Amino acid sequence: MRYVESLIDLVGNTPLVKLSRVTEGLAPLVLAKVEYFNPGGSVKDRIATRMIDAAEQSGELQPGGTIVEPTSGNTGVGLALVAQQRGYSCVFVVPDKVSTDKINTLRAYGAEVVVCPTAVAPEDPRSYYSVSDRLVRERPKAWKPDQYSNPNNPRSHYETTGPEIWEATEGRVTHFVAGMGTGGTISGVGRYLKEVSNGRVKVIGADPEGSVYSGGTGRPYLVEGVGEDFWPTTYDRGIADEIYAISDADSFTLTRRLAREEGLLVGGSCGMAVAGALRAAEKAGPDDVVVVLLPDSGRGYLSKIFNDDWMADYGFISAGGEVTVGEVLA
Ligand code: PMP
Repeated sequence: MRYVESLIDLVGNTPLVKLSRVTEGLAPLVLAKVEYFNPGGSVKDRIATRMIDAAEQSGELQPGGTIVEPTSGNTGVGLALVAQQRGYSCVFVVPDKVSTDKINTLRAYGAEVVVCPTAVAPEDPRSYYSVSDRLVRERPKAWKPDQYSNPNNPRSHYETTGPEIWEATEGRVTHFVAGMGTGGTISGVGRYLKEVSNGRVKVIGADPEGSVYSGGTGRPYLVEGVGEDFWPTTYDRGIADEIYAISDADSFTLTRRLAREEGLLVGGSCGMAVAGALRAAEKAGPDDVVVVLLPDSGRGYLSKIFNDDWMADYGFISAGGEVTVGEVLA
């Protein structure tokens, strides 16, 4: 019989899919690593598994313990999946810009969710960082994975995502492009690919306009899961050869094109990453292989990016559905 013992056994080994329509006119092969094939629907299943395994081994997470984490949703799903299988409880703290779809998803997995305001400083007691710290103090046997400082976050990508890309491209990958939230993906994959290629692979970050990684101050933007207003220790500041600032308009326009033209119903940070990949591909040659990582599925954004009224309210499209602002990536 062919079956897996647990969903956790299905984390990783995601496919590379060639992008053919949105890349029209560009010389290199552009391949998307589609992370919604993970059982929890996002790249974050990888770090959740690795962080929990390590905390069990170190004794930080004890039987019957509670996992408390500030997360925009995807890390929560990954943690909730593993927690369920191993008898832990979960409390997640999320900023209020996160879609209700994502919050309901976490609750569906049996987790408790606390929603906090986005427009306050990280040190404000109402911020999602402060609230999660308080919950850790209050709950018995609580453990906070802290994806922003946990070395097992980038390590999971160094050990799995990076080698998968190298093997699947038979060592022919020349550019790796990823969005940056905690920076775990770009730092872990980037380090692995640079080591194994003796520095040949170019590592390119895509970042929302306004975020600190691309020189901003942390000004609010609408794309979820990426960009920061501080520098997490999970981000290796020396890893990226280039970082492109991408507007919300470009991120969302490309996200919608990926669904309509490539059949890839993915999240807004995926459109942002692909916008970065297309910029990198414009400067690359026919022998180059650009790999772009797509963190999650578009199902969590149906009422936002894929909703014409929401897009029109923010001025990203006119009432007739036409793109109105931003550099239109044709
Ligand atoms: N996209 C989405 C939707 C995410 O949830 C995250 C994680 N915050 C990222 C991209 C960025 O990944 P990383 O934290 O590894 O930089």
